[in-house]
Amino acid sequence: MNRYGIDIWGKRYFEIDNGKVIVNHKSKPAIIDIVKKVREKGLSGPLLMRFPHLVQKQISFLYDTFSKVQKEFDYKGSFNAVFPLKVNQYPGFVKNLVKLGKRYNYGLEAGSKPELILAMTYNNIGAPITVNGFKDNEMIVLGFLAAKMGHNITLTIEGINELESIVENVKNFDGIVPNIGLRIRLHSSGIGIWAKSGGINSKFGLTSSELISAIEILKKNSLLSSFKMIHFHIGSQIEDIAPLKKALREAGNIFAELKKMGAKNLTSINLGGGLAVEYSQNEDSYHKNYSLEEYANDVVYLLQDIAKRKNVDEPDIFIESGRYIAAPHAVLIAPVLELFSKEYTQKLLRLKEKNPPLVSELYDLYKDMNKKNALEFLHDSLDHMESLLTLFDLGYIDLEDRSNTEILVNLIIEKAIKLLKDKNHKELLSIQDRVQEKYLLNFSLFQSLPDNWGLKQNFPVMPLSKLDEANKRSASLWDITCDSDGEISFDIKNPLFLHDVNLEEEDYFLAFFLVGAYQETMGMRHNLFAHPTEVSIEISEDSFDIDNIVESNNILQILNEIGYSKNEVINIINEKIENSLKEKKEIEMTKDMVEIFLKDNGYLKTDIIQPDFFKENK
Ligand SMILES: *Cc1c(COP(=O)(O)O)cnc(C)c1O
Repeated sequence: MNRYGIDIWGKRYFEIDNGKVIVNHKSKPAIIDIVKKVREKGLSGPLLMRFPHLVQKQISFLYDTFSKVQKEFDYKGSFNAVFPLKVNQYPGFVKNLVKLGKRYNYGLEAGSKPELILAMTYNNIGAPITVNGFKDNEMIVLGFLAAKMGHNITLTIEGINELESIVENVKNFDGIVPNIGLRIRLHSSGIGIWAKSGGINSKFGLTSSELISAIEILKKNSLLSSFKMIHFHIGSQIEDIAPLKKALREAGNIFAELKKMGAKNLTSINLGGGLAVEYSQNEDSYHKNYSLEEYANDVVYLLQDIAKRKNVDEPDIFIESGRYIAAPHAVLIAPVLELFSKEYTQKLLRLKEKNPPLVSELYDLYKDMNKKNALEFLHDSLDHMESLLTLFDLGYIDLEDRSNTEILVNLIIEKAIKLLKDKNHKELLSIQDRVQEKYLLNFSLFQSLPDNWGLKQNFPVMPLSKLDEANKRSASLWDITCDSDGEISFDIKNPLFLHDVNLEEEDYFLAFFLVGAYQETMGMRHNLFAHPTEVSIEISEDSFDIDNIVESNNILQILNEIGYSKNEVINIINEKIENSLKEKKEIEMTKDMVEIFLKDNGYLKTDIIQPDFFKENK
């Protein structure tokens, strides 16, 4: 049985039971049962399912792990964390996060003015706010206002000009100054596709000489006592622990040096984010080489060691890991709309009295295929297909012959897969590329998995049911955009095998896991497909509740978002209907029908429009 790597990426948050994927919490519901309940409410199309208890688990695991390690090392500094809003700013996630984080004093990180406003609005008073990224004078004023509102806020300076802007503003806010942090530029850098945030050539941070000037400016303006934190961030999804250790040594020594230069209130080191998520579905290709325990051990050990050697107090630790906290909580569920080869059934064969010899041979191969010869016959049929397609291009066979060829080859593939199903996948593997099935999924890759499109990031994907049945179809996945990049192709190194299903008889859903970080706001409206319908699932001891339903934006809303006036669209359509039809009743009915479409979302529906629809509107 194929477990789709659930034991690698699933963290035991999800399990397989009775052929279905279940949520391993309290009443352990099967995800497909939740999907059915949601669809009973008339919500079809792709579905983003949030599990608040997984946010809770990630937060407590982070705090508990650090707390345990700090005790073991008898570490004197405190541990603090903030959630970087850029990773997921959606209300369905953030409001829940601040509620769950309250008991830990979990804070928020902001990298832009809108994010800072979000933090000022929703962060628990007293929990830390850190502000990174480029700041104009307005953003710095916002920081002062946040401090005035009672927030425990630290503005991390990315350049000397930002420091000057703070100095300017002090006089406007008699006595209230936000904490000041300095982002340091390290020699060590991250690795991988997100590495540009760290390293000596990175976009952010102060060089050694800028750090010295910053201290001088702070001293001159009597602001040194507000300088509390140094900050670095070497990149996202740090899969190898080694560069992080290097960065910690560098930062630890800078911390000690700055303290020696008189920064008495400098108490904190902020390690930024970067904790990696294991996205791999394949034992041969783990994405990361460390656990949270190892990470915490390294941080605490190295910072303690440097503090001891340089004779300074052990720093308070801040971390800003976002991906690690947010990724597991959301699952994207996409209904399968179609298997492309399903049009190729035996009853559609139009064999003639006299067929081209290769077509007759294909037919014989199909009929005579058995367990022993299956692979050989399959190879032969694929060769015959190539020849027949060439013959068609040269004008020697007609469209009916070509259609018979396509149908027979597909029937042969299906039969071969059935006959070989007890054998090892490896036998089939050599030709998987050529016998793959295309699964059409009701979702947009650009909207819902932008990192797959832009960075080829793998997200674990698996069917929600039939997991106790043989899955022998090598699969490529296609979204419903009109863009050939909307595809997750079959990858022989990381092969995906799915089931043969008859969609007329049963639904088949695929779920993409670990999509809770970065995908939502980075998703784009290619072809005008909107953010999918989202729901939060609260699981109790005996059941589950579907909360916070946010329906996917309808067509009018989407058009409005890109600048069309809703009224103008409706008016112009109505005018055209009025101008082309005569009867009043006919006009009203047509308008009503168009309006129904305008108020629905743009994802595909599998239901046929019932006759009632036309009657009701008569
Ligand atoms: C993006 C970012 C983070 C979050 O990184 P993750 O990889 O999601 O943990 C933290 N801090 C800063 C400054 C960032 O820019």
